[in-house]
Amino acid sequence: MMRVLKFGGTSVGTAESIKNVRSIIESIEGPKMVVLSAMSGVTNYLVDISEELKNDNQREVQLLVKSLKAKHLDLLDKLIPSSERNITVRLVIENLFQEFNELVSGEYSENISNQILTFGETVLTFIFSEYLSSRESPNTLLNAKRFMYVGNLENPDTNKIANKIEPYLISEDRDPIYITQGFVRIDKFNRVSTLKRGGSDYTATILGAALNAEEVQIWTDIDGFHNNDPRYVKDTHPLSSLTFEEAAELAYFGAKILHPQTISPVISKNIPIYLKNTFTPELPGTKISSEITENGLKAISAKDGITAIKIKSNRMLMAHGFLKKIFEIFDNLETAIDMITTSEIAISLTIDDTRNLDQILDQLKNYGDITVDTDHSIICIVGERLIEDPSTFKLFEILNEIPLRMISYGGSINNVSLLVATENKVKALKALHKTLFVQKGKELCASH
Ligand code: ASP
Ligand code: MG
Repeated sequence: MMRVLKFGGTSVGTAESIKNVRSIIESIEGPKMVVLSAMSGVTNYLVDISEELKNDNQREVQLLVKSLKAKHLDLLDKLIPSSERNITVRLVIENLFQEFNELVSGEYSENISNQILTFGETVLTFIFSEYLSSRESPNTLLNAKRFMYVGNLENPDTNKIANKIEPYLISEDRDPIYITQGFVRIDKFNRVSTLKRGGSDYTATILGAALNAEEVQIWTDIDGFHNNDPRYVKDTHPLSSLTFEEAAELAYFGAKILHPQTISPVISKNIPIYLKNTFTPELPGTKISSEITENGLKAISAKDGITAIKIKSNRMLMAHGFLKKIFEIFDNLETAIDMITTSEIAISLTIDDTRNLDQILDQLKNYGDITVDTDHSIICIVGERLIEDPSTFKLFEILNEIPLRMISYGGSINNVSLLVATENKVKALKALHKTLFVQKGKELCASH
């Protein structure tokens, strides 16, 4: 059975780390599908190139392309030192850049921009495949543009992808190594597009589901999912296991380690995901699966850029059908709602996609008085059967210090969500950490 192994940007950011990735791959048995991101920083570069092209700034475009090419040729020389192979591989890289140059010399369009953005994965997988071959690791490079048909970003048809990829899975090796590009997809108009920034994680789980893989391993630069956001809170620690549901909530609500949609493709097939650190492969990392190892509080994450909308109307009082009309407005304008709270005469809800906000507000006006609060953050607290845990009341102690705009409790027994102004986010994360983890730890010690 196949394993899908995905390596992120920092894991393939330098020649040294790429050598390390090779030894990780070689240490894992059985057939493998290796999904690579672009080298770290490269996709940001490509975003800049696309922006400069849009602004008609050819000079800047050319400078950026030049340094991108130098970066990859330098990588080549470090991975495959001067030799005949070095020369042949260099020629192909130059050809790839030649084609890329034509792409960035034309007129800007969104379609061209998407093709630009996916170039980092294209060059890197080629270099990586040649590097493995040069070290006597036979492998097959697959072009993801031939099979990653993801028409619906939220709900990829993994059967279709399975059918498309099948003809390419031919290898004479007993334990074949396939290599392919993360991030890229073919959209419903058969155009090259992306799975959004950080999307290589999603590629890995979509392929995992399509191939009925035994497991998906996501190799990054941190040692697993932490119990709180290590960027803002000290003394966080990695979690050894999470359920699919816990991980999906955390990833969706801001945990930077995974693309928000990563978990969904593998849930119904019950394929576990392992999060591992390429720089400390001996550490266990985090296993995400259907197994419940412990009940109670597990972890906290936060997502910024949330807008809260309140609709207040006396017409809501004892009337039915009111919510339906409100929800229809959001539905028609393709805007997902994350949190909801209601009172008898008002409803508050949150969105993070504000592209159609003006139109939404314009239509909501007909139903009552509207208030909009921007710059909020959702804090998501998860744990199996969390709300049945008697110590959960402690999370409300933060009300002493921090005003909460909304609370969502009981939507699922595994989750509580709080909405705070983003300026209070770090304070809230720290306060929750203290009451929920640090003090809990102390009590556990005291009772032993
Ligand atoms: N290279 C893409 C990005 O930087 C995809 C990924 O790394 O997951 O967003
Ligand atoms: Mg990532």
